[in-house]
Amino acid sequence: MRISAPGLPALLTDGYARFRETGFPRHEGAYRALAEGQEPPVMVISCCDSRVDPEAIFDAGPGELFVVRNVANLVPPCDPGGDYGTGAAIEFAVEGLGVADIVVMGHSGCGGIRAYIESRGAPPGESGAPGFIGKWISTVRGAEARLPTDAPSDGPGLQEAFEYASIRNSLDNLMTFPIVRQAVDDGRLRLHGAHFSIADGLLTVLDPATGNAAVPE
Ligand SMILES: [Zn+2]
Repeated sequence: MRISAPGLPALLTDGYARFRETGFPRHEGAYRALAEGQEPPVMVISCCDSRVDPEAIFDAGPGELFVVRNVANLVPPCDPGGDYGTGAAIEFAVEGLGVADIVVMGHSGCGGIRAYIESRGAPPGESGAPGFIGKWISTVRGAEARLPTDAPSDGPGLQEAFEYASIRNSLDNLMTFPIVRQAVDDGRLRLHGAHFSIADGLLTVLDPATGNAAVPE
């Protein structure tokens, strides 16, 4: 099929050709209906990491997931003077779309979490890592208090402990948004934590009552 996508890398033009050939026809009815508006029931907050694609992991079609992706799948505390991007997505998902569930999905081998661990020891208010990433991942500092007391002090064990603690920290930070807290208190919204293991493709879901990990049956 001839497609017009001048200048794009072959990775994209080839993929787009396949989409026009099979992907779009398969979902054409859904796309036409969705052109009138979206009503996704679930929001997923995931990492930018190329290996952790929510639509692939949950085998979701168009219009099913409202996804925001950022470095290390972080939700900073509600701060009108702080992060606008993630806050705007949360506000739109809850107020504009009325999603019933929000899933914060972390993953194994997260580079953002690793960067935070490597920068530990920096003074409060500073992440120790340079640039935008440094400012952004300073949010992970809030996960320190959520590490298990028996967490390894270094290595892959510490990395995984921080990945889970940061998911719990982001779930707590979600509740600092008044619109989120209100929706949860009203029973209109549920919050979930999950962790994706890249090598084996397994998702571990956090028990909402205990915060402990439990693999879904
Ligand atoms: Zn990541």
